[in-house]
Amino acid sequence: MSLPYVGRFAPSPSGPLHLGSAVAAVASYVDARAHGGQWLLRIEDLDTPRVVSGATEIILHQLNALGMSWDGEVLHQSRRLGFYQSAFDALLSLNYVYPCGCTRREIADSVLSVQAAQLSGERPYPGTCRHGLPEGRQGLSWRFRVPEGVVAFKDRWLGPVVQDVSQAVGDFVIKRADGVWAYQLAVVIDDAAQGVTDIVRGEDLLSSTARQQILATTLGYSVPSVLHVPLAIDNSGLKLSKQNNAASLDLTQPLKILQKSWELLGFERLKVINIEDFWAQATSVWVQRLSRANLHGIN
Ligand code: GLU
Repeated sequence: MSLPYVGRFAPSPSGPLHLGSAVAAVASYVDARAHGGQWLLRIEDLDTPRVVSGATEIILHQLNALGMSWDGEVLHQSRRLGFYQSAFDALLSLNYVYPCGCTRREIADSVLSVQAAQLSGERPYPGTCRHGLPEGRQGLSWRFRVPEGVVAFKDRWLGPVVQDVSQAVGDFVIKRADGVWAYQLAVVIDDAAQGVTDIVRGEDLLSSTARQQILATTLGYSVPSVLHVPLAIDNSGLKLSKQNNAASLDLTQPLKILQKSWELLGFERLKVINIEDFWAQATSVWVQRLSRANLHGIN
């Protein structure tokens, strides 16, 4: 028997939500409703240099204004540092992690990484410190020792996905040189702690999924199913993101935002008059789609 559905939305408070993040929020909320499941909220505020004061409060307000209500308490990653440390200690005691003394520049400059980057679009870590720090070097970050082999999973929107993390990414950072716990580690620990069964998020995180599944398996957690929705693109073809200065949501017209997000997900405009109506109809359309091989309708 499968576990009762637990979904989540996990924004980083580096600014208010914009249309791109609204699309991910709408998809995860409607998927949770379509399954009669819970929808949890987690604030990913570990990357302190990027955290903007007041952004968390604005995000909560924005979600409320869009008619999205979360179950239980909001989880703040900044209050969970002890849990990341314990998981790290467990990984360290089993020799799954090691200190790395390389700077970003050195990794980017390595010949191996340039060659492989051409193939995969990412810059893999060449493994310089895997068997010990080179003489005279001090550990800066901590990396996870990625096993060889392919990770395969089925994305509920995109269908089958395969990634060889050792080739495409290499040993990845789980504790940054500035002492901050890396997103990849924290997300896995928190999804497990919150009992998340289903991750619904933007396609920009698709390339992180295999890493997260390896970590989850190594830590003895069950692996949530995933659904990555297309990214919202602005008029000039750029991904709508805080980095690209996407505008914060205009909360004077919440229904318009929901409608736009829905269309960006590739659905036909819903004929609805208010937010409640939107959620009811969107949920029923989503339920109909769920019966297909994957949500995108590709078999
Ligand atoms: N905090 C991440 C972001 O805002 C999302 C993490 C996730 O959904 O796994 O992009």
